[in-house]
Amino acid sequence: MASALTRASRISSIGVSEILVIGETARRMRRAGKPVIVLGAGEPDFDTPDNVKEAAVRAIRDGRTKYTALDGTPEMKAAIIGKFRRENALDFEPAEIMATAGAKQVLFNAFMATMNPGDEALLAAPYWTTYADIAAIAGGTPVALAGREENGFRITAEDLEAAITPRTRWLLLNSPSNPSGAAYEAEHLKPILDVLLRHPHVWLMTDDIYEHLLYDGRTFATALNLQPGLRDRTLVINGVSKAYAMTGWRLGYCAGPASLIEAMSIVQSQATTNPSSISQAAAIEALTGPQDIVAQRRDDFQRRRDIVVERLNAMPGISCRKPEGAFYTFANCSGLLGRRTPEGAVLDSDSTYCRYLLEEANVAVVPGSCFGLAPYFRISYAAAQETLMEACDRISRANEALR
Ligand code: PMP
Repeated sequence: MASALTRASRISSIGVSEILVIGETARRMRRAGKPVIVLGAGEPDFDTPDNVKEAAVRAIRDGRTKYTALDGTPEMKAAIIGKFRRENALDFEPAEIMATAGAKQVLFNAFMATMNPGDEALLAAPYWTTYADIAAIAGGTPVALAGREENGFRITAEDLEAAITPRTRWLLLNSPSNPSGAAYEAEHLKPILDVLLRHPHVWLMTDDIYEHLLYDGRTFATALNLQPGLRDRTLVINGVSKAYAMTGWRLGYCAGPASLIEAMSIVQSQATTNPSSISQAAAIEALTGPQDIVAQRRDDFQRRRDIVVERLNAMPGISCRKPEGAFYTFANCSGLLGRRTPEGAVLDSDSTYCRYLLEEANVAVVPGSCFGLAPYFRISYAAAQETLMEACDRISRANEALR
């Protein structure tokens, strides 16, 4: 008889994320015939553009189907360098660039390459849970820094100054943010970067993957432009998943000091070797081909944001700050806590509220506690307008049924 599996201590503190559990429950309910609307996913509902698909088909036909340089083909790196120059006014050398199997692998490579036991990664909460989990897998300690709602879910320079310890290795910033949609504009970002300048042992990761999803005419604030003094300790993370609706292609990239990229290459070389040759060909086309689709889709997302925010704010007990970007709303549900469901259960947390919405309204959304900040719930509005309206109707009815 096989002995019971003993899990390695590095994953012992990490459960399957509640987001995945909610997704699985929603799928089970659907199979049972329930008309569940899932607003939990972090991916655009649009299709990958045709020119990008065609580039991948060409790569297959041309036999570009073998291992590539592990940190990306020369053409891939050139496309990434071109993107940083064109969109962020940043100049990088090929040795400062790396292509990966999704932006998630950038995080994995970077944390595995740099974190020792006891090293801390400061995360601005609410944060994408992956940051904390990968930091922990890598043996480090994730430390949440609350971005308060009254500060627009952003951390301030004072918050950061108070949180830095001798063990702080990284600060992670994600703007616009998953899950809050909050963006750091220059006025918010510069004081934070100035704090880092005074603490040379702290490195910075900026996760810019939602860079193109900024609304109301806002432009993206590039950290390294605001504070070039951080250039030798900043890792810029990006990828094609969100901007070009390419989540399944698994292609991310980053730019940072050559010494860091070299260390990350050691991890990648033993984890996945190179990102898919075909996905690299597709991503080159995404980054160098026509860009108008990016703005069109951004405008679509903005319209959806406006609908959802307006509907949420019309619901008694719920308030929702208008997010500047990404495709999430992060609404406060504190006004509903303490109320009772028709079955008599007390809503005592954002988790129980989200469970109630799933069971009563058949709408799957994610509690803020999953992202290190409660009591909130995240709606991903990467869905058709009619679906969003129907979901809001159902949430509203479920709220009215509370006692
Ligand atoms: N960063 C953030 C903030 C995200 O929300 C996601 C996707 N959920 C990623 C990175 C990862 O994207 P990729 O598909 O490139 O791994």
